Amino acid sequence: MIVVMCSRYTQDELDAVVAHVEEAGLQVHLSRGEEHAIVGVVGLPITDQLQEALEVLPGVDRVLRVSKRYKLASRDFHPDSTHVRVGGVTVGSDAVTVIAGPCSVENEEQFLATAEALREMGATMLRGGAFKPRTSPYEFRGLGERGLQIMAEARERTGLPIVTEVMAPADVPLVTRYADVLQIGARNSQNYLLLEAVGATGKPVLLKRGMSMTVEEWLLAAEYVMASGSHDVMLCERGIRTFETATRNTLDLSTVPLVKKLSHLPIVIDPSHGTGKADLVPAMALAAAASGADGLMIEVHPSPDHALSDGAQSLDFLQFAALMPRLEAVATAVGRSVALSPSPAAHGA
Ligand code: PEP
Ligand code: MN
Repeated sequence: MIVVMCSRYTQDELDAVVAHVEEAGLQVHLSRGEEHAIVGVVGLPITDQLQEALEVLPGVDRVLRVSKRYKLASRDFHPDSTHVRVGGVTVGSDAVTVIAGPCSVENEEQFLATAEALREMGATMLRGGAFKPRTSPYEFRGLGERGLQIMAEARERTGLPIVTEVMAPADVPLVTRYADVLQIGARNSQNYLLLEAVGATGKPVLLKRGMSMTVEEWLLAAEYVMASGSHDVMLCERGIRTFETATRNTLDLSTVPLVKKLSHLPIVIDPSHGTGKADLVPAMALAAAASGADGLMIEVHPSPDHALSDGAQSLDFLQFAALMPRLEAVATAVGRSVALSPSPAAHGA
């Protein structure tokens, strides 16, 4: 951290800053120029509390942070990219992992048919919601444990790992019994008690970006999960709210190279929530693969016009099948590949 003194600081004011830093157990590196004095603060931990305390001292012009507020999620302290292993699937290598499935698990027939079709078409993980965060309390809010049981049955039949959302700390033990990856939804991504409860399970976590979250806040949310025990965090960009109303959200694809620079964690792009429109999903999925995203999360439904949630943004089987070879072609063009489905033998590994 660097403390820049005002141009007309007094020696007493400078001494007070130095004393404050030293009282916090940190060291000072002083540099005096023609107009300003600069106090370099060295050591750990450099807290927000210290920054705020220094900002209000007389004679201080501004305080600048040099080190990141997140450590475990930062590439500065962990230069090698993290590979998250889920069953026989690895997320974070050169291959693009395709996670697909309906928004909600609606019934056994719908989910099992989707799971089997997706396995045939080359998806590597299954998604589906049993606990659904809905804007209106009158909409379909998921089947709860029955939905988790159906997903477990689909995993049994296909060998594909399952990703599903957990909405409340009290549900974490239940969802953990069934899920391979615990999803934190956009609406809950700054629910710190939930982040800690999920982190304490040690399970892989898919952490959606909140709809008004900065990238720093998102990485700090990942830090909560990691500091609580789970280091296998996948970040998932699903669009943010902007002034634009032509799409459901604005899919921020610049987060792919940005997050890769700032963090070692894999990043997954969700073009379904990112656009809200099925006809925009394939183009954004291809763009995500080209930009270096480690994975895609795509909503697929056997009959989107009958879906109980998010039908407008769901691909049908034909649309998904048409996307996969194009995804292969784009991945190959940028020196990547599309991850293969886990072999049945790897299931349960
Ligand atoms: C979902 O994945 O269906 C979902 C509710 O996503 P989000 O939290 O990104 O809105
Ligand atoms: Mn959805």
